[in-house]
Amino acid sequence: MSTFKKLTDLQVLFTDIANISYLGLNMSVDKSGKWWKGTEPADIKIFLEAYASEGYEVQIFKLSECNCGSKSFYLFSDDDEGVAKRVCPKCFTGNFICDSEEFWADSKPKQWFCIECNSKEANVGVGFSLYEDGEIKWLYIRERCNHCGILGCVAGWKIAYEPSKQLIAQV
Ligand SMILES: [Zn+2]
Ligand SMILES: [Zn+2]
Repeated sequence: MSTFKKLTDLQVLFTDIANISYLGLNMSVDKSGKWWKGTEPADIKIFLEAYASEGYEVQIFKLSECNCGSKSFYLFSDDDEGVAKRVCPKCFTGNFICDSEEFWADSKPKQWFCIECNSKEANVGVGFSLYEDGEIKWLYIRERCNHCGILGCVAGWKIAYEPSKQLIAQV
């Protein structure tokens, strides 16, 4: 389980991203450089769908938005434990993403920052891979640097319990 998790993230980090061809959807994603860049928060969806693992395709995509309207966040996560939390830089409201609160105490979260420009503010998108009955199989948390647009894979984990559909609203 965690091997799978590691593999997907490593693939994204070390694959020659520019050589990956991805057909369909309107491209506002720039794949010409070392990293994919998105011009707007919704581009996370294109990136996510391009990289979803076989058998774990994304059926539902949600973009995080604060109650104050902000779509940019400080992001804290631990991919080993499978937790992520977003904190709004405008109103300082913190939200656990999906079921992260439950596992937060055992985790060692690190704050996200952009590897290119050092910005600490990112747009956050969550993709859900579902079983046929609509329960969640896997979730992907992806981010886009709010400053330079670089797209990345901050975390992802398996959901191995029911009911889980309520998590879709907790992005
Ligand atoms: Zn806010
Ligand atoms: Zn950046």
